[in-house]
Amino acid sequence: MTFIGLHKDTSERIDITQFEHPRLIIKSGDCVCQLCGSPLMVRAGNVYRAHFSHYGERECHSEFRSHPESPEHREAKTILAQFLKENYLEYSSARFDYEVPIPEVRRVADILVNFPMGWRIAHEIQLAGISIEELQARTDDYYKAGIDVVWWLGKSADTLTNRAWCVQTFGYCVTLNLRTGNHDRIKTLPR
Ligand SMILES: [Zn+2]
Repeated sequence: MTFIGLHKDTSERIDITQFEHPRLIIKSGDCVCQLCGSPLMVRAGNVYRAHFSHYGERECHSEFRSHPESPEHREAKTILAQFLKENYLEYSSARFDYEVPIPEVRRVADILVNFPMGWRIAHEIQLAGISIEELQARTDDYYKAGIDVVWWLGKSADTLTNRAWCVQTFGYCVTLNLRTGNHDRIKTLPR
């Protein structure tokens, strides 16, 4: 499940969210997975935003440490990108890429924001439960690749322990509330 496929002939990156009627433009099998090279199906229903998926029940089998995504997680990427563009002036000159493989650490950034001066920052949406050890490991990997990271905590990942880790590590914590659309920036934690 992904928004990004590579055209099987040209290897062009195709972002399926950029098409109003993707089924009229992209055929299943036209694109392959950017991580494992398998052909992708076009999925465009009435409820969920259009996306690609591997054929059958197959998950992606690649060296990359990516995780199966929920429809909610996919939707959250577009909501968050819109929020960043609308609320942070410096983001208006930045380029947004989705699901960007970072080969040197075998991870895939949810949203990679590229600023004109070369600064790169990954915005990661974390909805599934996660330990602070895992948050630390993923953060260290991004730093190794020269990329800053912001963790947007939502749902099961939005715990006091994870908030405290973010505040301690970055000096702030940001949370994502997909139901209300209220995204918070927290600098200190309630005792
Ligand atoms: Zn794949």
